[in-house]
Amino acid sequence: CLFFFFFFLFSCFLLLLRISLSAEWEEISVMDERNTPMRTYQVCNVMEANQNNWLRTRHISREEAQRVHIEIKFTLRDCNSLPGVPGTCKETFNMYYYESNNANLWFIKESQYIKIDTIAADESFTQVDVGDRVMKLNTEVRTINNLSKKGFYLAFQDLGACIALVSVRVFYKKCPLTVLNLAQFPDTITGGETALVEVHGVCVNASEEFEPPKMYCSADGGWLVPIGRCVCKPGFEENKDMCQPCRPGTYKASATDAYCTKCPPHSSSPQEQATECICEKGFYRAENDPRSMACTRPPSAPENPISTVNETCVTLEWAPPRDTGGRGDIIYNLNCTKCSGDGKKCTKCGSNVHFVPRNFGLSSTTVLVTDLEPDSNYSFTIESENGVSALSPTPKGKVVINVTTSQTGENMLLKERRSKDSVTLAWQGPERPNGVIVEYEVIYYEKNQREQNYTVLKTRSNMMTVEGLKPGTTYVFRVRARTDGGYGSYGGEIELETSHEGTVKHGIIDFMFTYRESDISVFPPAVLSHFVQLICFFFISFPPTKFPCAKQDPDEEKMQFQHGRTYIHPHTYEDPNQAVRDFAKEIDASNIRIERVIGAGEFGEVCSGRLRMQGKREIYVAIKSLKAGYSDKQRRDFLSEASIMGQFDHANIIRLEGVVTRCKPVMIITEFMENGSLDTFLKKHDGQFTVIQLVGMLRGIASGMKYLSDMSYVHRDLAARNILVNSNLVCKVSDFGLSRVLEDDPEAAYTTRGGKIPIRWTAPEAIAYRKFTSASDVWSYGIVMWEVISYGERPYWEMSNQDVIKAIDEGYRLPAPMDCPVVLHQLMLDCWEKGRSDRPKFAQIVTILDKLIRNPASLREQNTDPSTPEFSVNTVDEWLDAIKMGHYKENFSSAGYVSLDSILYISEGKRL
Ligand code: AMP
Repeated sequence: CLFFFFFFLFSCFLLLLRISLSAEWEEISVMDERNTPMRTYQVCNVMEANQNNWLRTRHISREEAQRVHIEIKFTLRDCNSLPGVPGTCKETFNMYYYESNNANLWFIKESQYIKIDTIAADESFTQVDVGDRVMKLNTEVRTINNLSKKGFYLAFQDLGACIALVSVRVFYKKCPLTVLNLAQFPDTITGGETALVEVHGVCVNASEEFEPPKMYCSADGGWLVPIGRCVCKPGFEENKDMCQPCRPGTYKASATDAYCTKCPPHSSSPQEQATECICEKGFYRAENDPRSMACTRPPSAPENPISTVNETCVTLEWAPPRDTGGRGDIIYNLNCTKCSGDGKKCTKCGSNVHFVPRNFGLSSTTVLVTDLEPDSNYSFTIESENGVSALSPTPKGKVVINVTTSQTGENMLLKERRSKDSVTLAWQGPERPNGVIVEYEVIYYEKNQREQNYTVLKTRSNMMTVEGLKPGTTYVFRVRARTDGGYGSYGGEIELETSHEGTVKHGIIDFMFTYRESDISVFPPAVLSHFVQLICFFFISFPPTKFPCAKQDPDEEKMQFQHGRTYIHPHTYEDPNQAVRDFAKEIDASNIRIERVIGAGEFGEVCSGRLRMQGKREIYVAIKSLKAGYSDKQRRDFLSEASIMGQFDHANIIRLEGVVTRCKPVMIITEFMENGSLDTFLKKHDGQFTVIQLVGMLRGIASGMKYLSDMSYVHRDLAARNILVNSNLVCKVSDFGLSRVLEDDPEAAYTTRGGKIPIRWTAPEAIAYRKFTSASDVWSYGIVMWEVISYGERPYWEMSNQDVIKAIDEGYRLPAPMDCPVVLHQLMLDCWEKGRSDRPKFAQIVTILDKLIRNPASLREQNTDPSTPEFSVNTVDEWLDAIKMGHYKENFSSAGYVSLDSILYISEGKRL
């Protein structure tokens, strides 16, 4: 459905061609089906033997096409319909071509022509109804690939048939000019037989490249694999493959924004194509404001300022401005001036006055001003501003507050009396209190302890007994007075020690408690929680039960405890040789006869041969050997394949016969698969199987994979090259070596995360973050389906690995291979769902394929018309009827194909 064909006709009907005619071909006028007269070339020397009549076209320029198609329309008489013709009468003719740069050749030797094909009529010969002058036509199309010269000549050879050649149409295919993702791709002539032509798109007007756009023009004239895109420039938006200007009142600030949007509040765009909107008068946009933000204005003045004087300190507080100007970035600045008693003369405060936290750029609405002079007048201006105040010519909103500092003197500690757990203090009030003294505050703490752990006591008199102290302990005491104007400063410290006898009182316990609490709070919460985790870790990580020594990754470890029959990773064994002993049978080398080399593996040659075990019949086997000079690790890795394979027992998993480890070379013996690896096998037999047979192969692979996933084994490198095929077309999953994905597979490429992965076969999450699961195997299985249906075509053709990753990320998926039933392509697409959990499980795939095999009609559907009736079959006879091959029922039953399953394994060699 992705393919749009564009047939470019450059040489049309026969009559337009200058044909060089040998004597026996004649140019004749006849009537066509609609009774319109037309010219044909005819030959019909059926009564004479040894005919060799040639008809040749003029030179046909190939223009830039490498691949051209020739459609011929002709009629051909059935020899039986001609009374009294001798046995030399033919019912076919040959079509040839000759490539040449010379457009004026008048003679071409027969031997120089290259044969295109022998042409026969359709299944029933069309009749030329001479009486009515009505003719029915056969139409045949043939293709010439890889043309390279300026043009070619076509020739038709008659060897004694009765032919009327009505038209010859020569054409090539182009991928039509198209616009996709705002990039224009020109008319492109298709490449050779399978080659894709990489075409770079040009961004349409008013757009720019976001990522270089490209597509591939396929040999069939369809565009494939769009990658990259263009985006409309600022001020333009996309509409039907074009970029059109933003309308007045709207704007688009960045090329990556999808559409023009309405101007934000307090702004407008009177012209088209606006990249931003202009602010109304009195409103502004700060440099870092996004263009989508409303225009704003400076705030009004702060409100309700209040001051709290504490001797020479003042706390100033105020409320935020009523109008924030539409912004949230208000800050406040404070100016301080000291004024004369009558308030007439003010001077800027000196640097000795301090502001806590600071006087400029305050985000809070409170500030503490310290170190003012006592008994003085100050004036503070509090100013508000925001991100656009600097852009506005109007003065900033401000509020003024006047403050008079107070004067309170120090207290002098005079007397003391001590017992074992109490101290009595007396003091003299300040000399010049600023107002009436309201109360005194006594603070004390244990000497040499933290000063913060002090206790505060209050009294209205100038004497106090502090009780509940520790015996024999030194305490520090300080006193200050509070007047209406605030607190005065502390008087000097006094240290007093309680007497030695006595018991510890309640207050001390409190104190200790406080102390401990503060100690713990030294640990930030994160540290504490780590501590808790650490404890949990010890309890959880080292339970009393002892696990086997397991070095495998956690995913795999988890798997082992999920199922009853689960695959055991060889790394679980401390001694890998033990795994080999547990899962693989040791074979005596004298039982093996090596016959020939059939392939090359990572560790050495792969040979075929025979194995004769005592009491059993001789069988064909494949023998993998470990080449000489191997390291210990190589031996371990080589044998790991046997200890994995040895755990499996399934008709679609390659079967391990055993290993030879006691003598050299070390060998792994498996069942022999006569047809070798699936990819090579399919390429060799391109187009030779029925869809049912292909689905049968896929069903086998799915069944093997279901078995593996049930055993919690993740293959990681499922691909047609790793499937082996036996003489009955049974497909078996192979390649289980531990290092296989890393070292063995020529398709594996390094990813950005360092691992080596066969990109084209691997699910995106496995490429991105090595999340290999049975669901990622399902993705690979979808690719194997595609390989099988396309007879070993390379997934994503000649695209680079990077392009494949990008295309998959952008949602591209492989299109249906030629003649692929819709249901199969849909199943592939399901396997390539981005979300792992959305992909089918292998068990479901097996069920789906089984249904398809029982319902061959659904496999014949090449479109998604839901009205097409479905039917299912249960017996071989029903199946043959369904595929209109009922007349072969006897052949099938006498060849032993009695069950539907057996049909899956019809081999090439077995003729019915
Ligand atoms: P491997 O090392 O498993 O990839 O094997 C290398 C090649 O040897 C494969 O591509 C097959 O062509 C061939 N081969 C491996 N095992 C077998 C077998 N059991 N039967 C037939 N050919 C095999």
